[in-house]
Amino acid sequence: MVVVMSPDATAEDVAHVVARVESVGGEAFVSTGVVRTIIGLVGDIDSFHHLNLRTLRGVADVHRISDPYKLVSRQHHPDRSTVWVGAPGRQVPIGPETFTLIAGPCAVETAEQTLEAAHMARSAGATILRGGAFKPRTSPYAFQGLGVAGLTILADVGAATGLPVVTEVVDARDVAVVAEHADMLQVGTRNMANFGLLQAVGECDKPVLLKRGMTATIEEWLMAAEYIAQRGNLDVVLCERGIRTFEPSTRNTLDISAVPVVQATSHLPVVVDPSHAAGRKDLVVPLSRAAIAVGADGVIVDVHPDPETALCDGPQALLGTELRDLAQAVRRLPGMVGRRSAADPAG
Ligand code: PEP
Ligand code: MN
Repeated sequence: MVVVMSPDATAEDVAHVVARVESVGGEAFVSTGVVRTIIGLVGDIDSFHHLNLRTLRGVADVHRISDPYKLVSRQHHPDRSTVWVGAPGRQVPIGPETFTLIAGPCAVETAEQTLEAAHMARSAGATILRGGAFKPRTSPYAFQGLGVAGLTILADVGAATGLPVVTEVVDARDVAVVAEHADMLQVGTRNMANFGLLQAVGECDKPVLLKRGMTATIEEWLMAAEYIAQRGNLDVVLCERGIRTFEPSTRNTLDISAVPVVQATSHLPVVVDPSHAAGRKDLVVPLSRAAIAVGADGVIVDVHPDPETALCDGPQALLGTELRDLAQAVRRLPGMVGRRSAADPAG
């Protein structure tokens, strides 16, 4: 941490800052410039925060040097992590060595639709099945998901196809029932800053897919991951799913640069959701290719056997040729960036 003194700060002001820092066991290194004095602090950052240094006379600014997150930071955990999803014996990795395709319907509608979507997903090379049972919809009049009945369908289809399943939890009170049925819990964009929910999934023993809030900075997103980790669950996969910008031709703007930015600062795996970012199926394959090229650890995409009748997000669901293009990209491109593909039997 660095304290910048204002140009008119006196020697007493500087001495007071030093004394306050030393009073909590820290060290203060004073560097006197022609115009300003700066003070470098070494010690426990949390105790420095309690000093409210910005309120002291003569202090112009206080800068943090280290990351505000600890458990998810690479500063203390330099190697990138792999998160394993699924029951022992059929665990699927998400991490730096592999490229993982997660696919499935936006929402679980019926057993038949979910099973068909799962077969589509698997034929494209997916090794994890997605499907929402609790749907966080913008409109209270829109289909809200089948709830627990949807969880049962998803779990049955996962068991029948051998695919671990990921599904969203929108309420802290549902974490136990969702964890009972799913291999991975998703926290959606609208709940990224629901700290009670983050703590609740942090206390469960299943991995978590944490989507980026659509208006969240990367630092806020990583602090949300820190909430989960701080409760004991370090099996967190981050998901870039687009952010809100002034551009109306896509639903959200996929922030592709977030992938390497996050990977440089956090050890957690990061995947991309091109379906929810774009909201348009014609962009899902190109954006998936971009995600592979930029070094993402996987993608999560919507597929539906009959997008026309989909109860949720039909326009972004892949079918037919787009799915073949996706399968081809997922089989061929990861090898070019030094990864094993999800579709590779050795992966
Ligand atoms: C979803 O994946 O079903 C979903 C609602 O995504 P997001 O939270 O990114 O909108
Ligand atoms: Mn959706």
